[in-house]
Amino acid sequence: MSIKDLIESKQHTFSFEVFPPKNDPSLEGIFNTIEELKELEPDFISVTYGAMGTSKDKTVEIASRIKNHYGIESIAHLTCVTSSRTELESTIGELRKANIDNILALRGDIPESFDFSNLKDNFSYASDLIRHIRRAENMTIGAACYPEKHIEAISLEQDIEHLKRKVDEGADFLITQLFFDNELFYDYYDLIQKKGINIPVIAGILPVLNKNQTSKIVELSGCKFPSKFTRILNKYHDDPVALKEAGTIYATEQITDLLSWGIKGIHLYTMNKSDTAKRIMGNIGHIRNNLKASSL
Ligand code: FAD
Repeated sequence: MSIKDLIESKQHTFSFEVFPPKNDPSLEGIFNTIEELKELEPDFISVTYGAMGTSKDKTVEIASRIKNHYGIESIAHLTCVTSSRTELESTIGELRKANIDNILALRGDIPESFDFSNLKDNFSYASDLIRHIRRAENMTIGAACYPEKHIEAISLEQDIEHLKRKVDEGADFLITQLFFDNELFYDYYDLIQKKGINIPVIAGILPVLNKNQTSKIVELSGCKFPSKFTRILNKYHDDPVALKEAGTIYATEQITDLLSWGIKGIHLYTMNKSDTAKRIMGNIGHIRNNLKASSL
């Protein structure tokens, strides 16, 4: 099913992101995780592509298993900047063959040492990939957006102009980069609405579970930590169990606030950890029921 239709037919969606594991060629571990995530009745699960040093070709296999074996809607991420058009078309063809209707179309990060001299026809931006998919395929297309601006963008305003291009080229919905300050997201949402970006926005939420994660997050995303979050990190940084608990509670509070505000969807960056997803979804079980009941 198209995630666009899914979002239209439901008041709220709850979804998860997983990534292909680096050191598990059998994929047994990730399939166990997905089996556990299935109990939480997600509306869809997304599978990253070549992110975090993982292999690209596992994305199709995992997305296919999610859809065709577990019966959960799936969306495959696809990055374009380091791939030729032939490679991209081959991957899109494999997704089609696997009956996958949804692609999260991304540029991807530009690796420092990548040799672009042999790559003549790659797409430079996600908007180019979106245009390409929209012309050739009847698929639902998601795109990324950045409430605190993309790390390379000169300004938030310019980044939003580029986001508008992705929407004009045919993106059906957006998933945000992780953020820890909901107020920044609400301001961003108002701004993009004013620029005529009216497609559904799904909030990407990352529960912080250990202190190593935090410096990486800032380096990769450039997102800010609000003071109440910094206090938690400072207080529990040398107690992994307490930090995990506090990170889970913080994410729960963020989600509760976003839902009260009226967000259309929550996308949990699970880091392939089903136990945290279970705790967070357990914490908001009645809230989910309430939202379901009020949409009937
Ligand atoms: P774009 O939308 O192309 O934007 C990239 C930069 O270029 C921005 O600064 C933008 O302002 C600028 N720009 C855009 N268009 C133009 C233009 N016409 N002229 C000049 N500048 C322009 N990475 C992975 O490798 N694999 C994944 O699976 C993955 N999944 C992700 C999922 C989500 C929800 C998010 C938020 C990010 C994900 N990423 C993933 C990271 C993403 O690939 C990087 O953030 C990447 O640097 C930008 O990708 P994009 O699609 O947002 O790029």
